[in-house]
Amino acid sequence: MECDMCGSSEQLFKTQVEGSMLTVCSQCAKHGTVISRVKTEEEVQRETKRVNRKVVVEDEPVETIVTNYSSLIKKARESKNMTQEEVAKKINEKESVLHHAENAEGSLSIALARKLERFLGIKLVEFESYEYEPEKQAESGALTIGDMIKK
Ligand SMILES: [Zn+2]
Repeated sequence: MECDMCGSSEQLFKTQVEGSMLTVCSQCAKHGTVISRVKTEEEVQRETKRVNRKVVVEDEPVETIVTNYSSLIKKARESKNMTQEEVAKKINEKESVLHHAENAEGSLSIALARKLERFLGIKLVEFESYEYEPEKQAESGALTIGDMIKK
């Protein structure tokens, strides 16, 4: 960007000069009324990066608990021949926490779901994002959701 009047490339200002809008340097801006400061290339780049980062965050998959988690937990626990108390102890939780989970009382937290997934070898957390559709993973040979959870 250069000054419309003298060609200087220092800090530019959007300036109204005799009825027309010009982008001029601080020297030439004296001939008119400064409306706003023009962003430098560096500033524009910084803002673009900020926007990009925001988009990335929005694209991250949303973790949700599967709807039939209570029966999954119960079945997995029973197949291990363990009581709710035993499983609770193994994952450092209270028995009541497991009791609630198996009866679908209240909502299961992602953190607890992760613990149960690991201990019981079941899948309780899903990603709510098209980015992680199984078909796409098969094509690109990317990690499966199972692989991601293990990490
Ligand atoms: Zn100028």
